Amino acid sequence: MNERRKSENVLLNTALQDFYGAAEEMGLSENQIAILSNSERRLEVSVPVEMDDGSLRVFKGYRVQHSTALGPSKGGIRYAADLNVDECEALAMLMTWKCSLAGIPYGGGKGGIACNPFSMSKREKERMSRTFAARISPNIGRWSDVPAPDMNTGGQEMVWIMDTISKMRGQIEPAQLTGKPISYWGARGRNEASGLGAATCGLELMKALGKDPAKMRVAIQGFGNVGSFTAKHLSSAGATVVAISDSLATYYSPKGIDVNMAFERLCGRSRKEREGVTLDGCEKLGPSDVLFVDCDFLFPCAVQGVLNRDTAPKVKAKYIVEGANGPITPEGDAILNDAGVLIVPDFLANSGGVISSYFEWAQNLQGFFWTEEEHNERLLRLIRENFKRVWDQSQAKKATMRRAAYVAAIQRVADAVELRGNFL
Ligand code: NAD
Repeated sequence: MNERRKSENVLLNTALQDFYGAAEEMGLSENQIAILSNSERRLEVSVPVEMDDGSLRVFKGYRVQHSTALGPSKGGIRYAADLNVDECEALAMLMTWKCSLAGIPYGGGKGGIACNPFSMSKREKERMSRTFAARISPNIGRWSDVPAPDMNTGGQEMVWIMDTISKMRGQIEPAQLTGKPISYWGARGRNEASGLGAATCGLELMKALGKDPAKMRVAIQGFGNVGSFTAKHLSSAGATVVAISDSLATYYSPKGIDVNMAFERLCGRSRKEREGVTLDGCEKLGPSDVLFVDCDFLFPCAVQGVLNRDTAPKVKAKYIVEGANGPITPEGDAILNDAGVLIVPDFLANSGGVISSYFEWAQNLQGFFWTEEEHNERLLRLIRENFKRVWDQSQAKKATMRRAAYVAAIQRVADAVELRGNFL
């Protein structure tokens, strides 16, 4: 047996142990386990930046490509003060399983710069992004590694990176990055894709359980990109949104919240503007109370780790759809499973974003743009197929949806490794 990797980084260690657990249960060969528990490439670069005051700072940048067994590696670029290469590797590995489960032709990657973007000017961030792009450029490309925005990066950073690498190659290279603004090679539909995907997973679960959406009460934590569009699409499907929240408050109304009003008053508003907001007919509670209100479905769409050893026992919902990445800790997961709560795991529930990125890449390769209707129709088809695959498997094997999703995702990558052999 090959030695099992361990890491002092909690995120990487969890990703590794989760993989080993599933791989051993599935009966993957030792060779497959050895290949898939190691990343193909862990790149560290230095990023010298001339600051506005004339001083020079050198930041550390990373790009990890966990696997390209199924296709180019895909995953975000984040700017965060405490970023390190192990965290990038953990997130890259999770991207491999997410892309595999989504049925799209990608492996997993992740990267970024250890910096505090909030203390930097726009020009400093531009110089940093462009130098980082130049340093990682030998490994970036439409058929090798296709980054996207992540924490504290967005369309502007993607354009700076794409523009730098395009200039170095002497030709425009739009398909090397996704998450670009619609005005510059982006995809129509991307903005709502993650929320539309999460809402669709919830609606598919209702269908599988024979429940009428019009009789379902839902609570949604987080009213940012994912949460607000999840609320919009669930409400359009007839569900009653009884609670929403942001980092400041929960808005609760057992009779149902007017989601359009919530959009107007909360979305795109600064923290200060949101402080005084009220929603007609809603009680205003503490920000975490959304997790514990009386409802059928709970959608945690804010941050990781909110349902844990302390909070999970207080959840009243019978069904949870993980819109955020990792909102439930392993301890919280065990408590909720024991209590019979059915959970749609994050890498299925929030895969709308990466599927939309795949659509952007496909459109960029062709130089041919789709309408938003075409985008959404294709997105819904994939999400529904993926949901059904995981649901059927979990029913057949009497396993949780999380375990069924993990097994399906790992198996597809392992099959590609087997087909391609060890020279990957
Ligand atoms: P966002 O910044 O647009 O919105 C986050 C929301 O959560 C805001 O309403 C914020 O006020 C709220 N919030 C922040 N901290 C909170 C706290 N401690 N308690 C309660 N609410 C809190 O972010 P987003 O893009 O909607 O992403 C949300 C989650 O979904 C993240 O885990 C992200 O990684 C994941 N995700 C996002 C996408 C995407 O396409 N945006 C895709 C996949 C996964």
